[in-house]
Amino acid sequence: MFYERISPLEIDYVVCWTSRLLAFDEKDKVRYNYLTSGTPVDERVFFISHSGLRGYAEEAGVSFHVALALMITSELVDHFLEVGYHKETRGCPMDFTEDHSDLVPGLRTGRFCRPCTRRLDKNKDLKAAVEAMLAWGR
Ligand SMILES: [Zn+2]
Repeated sequence: MFYERISPLEIDYVVCWTSRLLAFDEKDKVRYNYLTSGTPVDERVFFISHSGLRGYAEEAGVSFHVALALMITSELVDHFLEVGYHKETRGCPMDFTEDHSDLVPGLRTGRFCRPCTRRLDKNKDLKAAVEAMLAWGR
């Protein structure tokens, strides 16, 4: 029903928030306890979990809304640049967070690491937009 309703709409990207952690199939494995996931049903739809985000935001000294903006920003960067998240925790919005508390350094800095910044430099308009989103509310 949801996908049928959005399919005729001329939208580029839909972000759905949920309080639950996400699970999905990847090849022959079931991945679970994820904070973000696309869906094979519609590539324009992405889910983001805000499970535990209030606590991580508080620990980082930012508001819950700043944390939500960072989560959306990360997904947009991943979507438009297709760079994915990096395994290293660099205090960057693109940190892969197997341990969800690894969100805290990225929330605290609100800045992309040097390698991610270099990738963003290839798309100045996107860079300006995502940096404004990260600065929002800080
Ligand atoms: Zn980075």
